[in-house]
Amino acid sequence: MSAAAPATAATADAVTAAAPRLLAASDLDQTLVFSERSAARAVTGLVPVEEYQGRTISWVTPAAWELLGELVASGAFVPATTRTAEQYRRIRWPHRPPHLAVCANGATVLVDGEPDARWSARVRARLDGCAPLERVHAEVARVVAAARAAVPGSAEPAVRDVPGAFCYAVLREGQRPALEGPLLGDLTVLLDGWGYAVSLQGRKLYAVPRPLTKSAAVAEVARRGGYDGFVAAGDSLLDVDLLVAARAAVRPGHGELFRTGWEHPRVRLLASRGAAAGEETARWLLAALAPPARGAAQKECSGPGNVPSRTSSA
Ligand SMILES: [Mg+2]
Repeated sequence: MSAAAPATAATADAVTAAAPRLLAASDLDQTLVFSERSAARAVTGLVPVEEYQGRTISWVTPAAWELLGELVASGAFVPATTRTAEQYRRIRWPHRPPHLAVCANGATVLVDGEPDARWSARVRARLDGCAPLERVHAEVARVVAAARAAVPGSAEPAVRDVPGAFCYAVLREGQRPALEGPLLGDLTVLLDGWGYAVSLQGRKLYAVPRPLTKSAAVAEVARRGGYDGFVAAGDSLLDVDLLVAARAAVRPGHGELFRTGWEHPRVRLLASRGAAAGEETARWLLAALAPPARGAAQKECSGPGNVPSRTSSA
């Protein structure tokens, strides 16, 4: 924010100690919770937060576990994930889960674990003009089949629909390098013309309608809760709208945004990567909700202490 900006009420609200009430919204996978592959350290000594088919598949550091407990206890923390509600419910939280959560990249808002019907109806109306999911599914299936063919002996990738929302493919071992490059580039261009965003995260390839965003759902949650805005964290291209819509945001030193060199003036790149970045992110979000007392004029996005402050009564 420029020091020369006119001193309008809106500007003052955004950057001074007018104390807006803020929500903290964050992506989960590779932002707050980590697979063995993405943790960038041995998972021994980390806190398991997700089990699937009888084995642990996600972890956080012990310090991050404590910080997540504080974030949930603040009442102003909203996970914003591309996971379906069912996948989201697998995550274990300290003490209790957050009251609210945004799932399926914004298609679902969970209130105490149950989908909010009013929001789901609004999303359906918003997606009416998008290309049919079956058509997108067929293209994604065609491209991942080509990636599979390039890896002799590899298994069939699964292509799954999240009905009324998006589709994604789960690549098998060794297929990702075959997909990256022209196959992914051509799919991205084609689906962009159909109004879909493509994102490759770990072994999952997502094709998501552009109107389906985390930021729209988080903004609605913030509006309903009487918040003035939100701060955010995320690591992938599907988080970009959320990061840009936030008053201030962070991204880790790994993941899709890091690899592609994506930058934005209000989005700070953290120094850490892997599970350590999850811990740093949780600490930043918490500090953003309860910043230390500072002078009146605070710049956005140069650290948690520089996030616009909120009322101490919140
Ligand atoms: Mg992520």
